[in-house]
Amino acid sequence: MQVCADGDQCSDTLPFSIGYYSSQLGIKYSSSGDQNAWSDTHKWWVIAAAISVGNRLGGVTNKDAISAFRNAYGIHPNKPFVMEMGSCGPRDGRGGCGDPAVGAYTWGSRDVEFSVTAPFYPVGPNRPATIAAIMSIHQIVHEFGHAFAASQTSYTDNPYAEIALQKDLLTSSGYQVSDYPGMWTPNSSTAYYESFANTFLGWVYGEFANDRYGTKRLEFMEDGMPRWLNR
Ligand SMILES: [Zn+2]
Repeated sequence: MQVCADGDQCSDTLPFSIGYYSSQLGIKYSSSGDQNAWSDTHKWWVIAAAISVGNRLGGVTNKDAISAFRNAYGIHPNKPFVMEMGSCGPRDGRGGCGDPAVGAYTWGSRDVEFSVTAPFYPVGPNRPATIAAIMSIHQIVHEFGHAFAASQTSYTDNPYAEIALQKDLLTSSGYQVSDYPGMWTPNSSTAYYESFANTFLGWVYGEFANDRYGTKRLEFMEDGMPRWLNR
């Protein structure tokens, strides 16, 4: 892509960099020991996910994507959103990416850890590179759903508590359909916390099944997000 400024100053470099977007969003990448654990591609996936989330949040709070993202997660210069790449084992005997560790685990409202051994969706015989990229971005959006719920747990009417009361939403129904398993359900569990993170993903992209369960998921988010965000 060629970028031109002031009519004649053109370059083949994109005007915005990983560093630019990450600092605007307030996202930091950390890894225990391995400096190369985060590839540029992985960082761009995080940025793509965060901008998608910010755009949708901003539609509710009437802010630009960057401000909406920072406000929702309580990001400040001394409180970044930390994306870790590590072993993703349990901490104090709980949580983590499972055994063997795959994917990611959200530790709090500004802390997601990815399993360094298998952080994202690999390319495979039934999963071309573009699909693997999209599914990996969806996985990150799903984790942002967990992180958003974590930011709300000091309130009694929080996303987890409310979806736990919605029997129809603690199912595998209502998610957008896809030829690629897991595209709209990065975690197929019907536990309330995974149901919320999956429903958050559908809400961010405006993609639910075209049935009464899909409508219920959309209505749940359209009822909840303005209340949760504007308090
Ligand atoms: Zn999850």
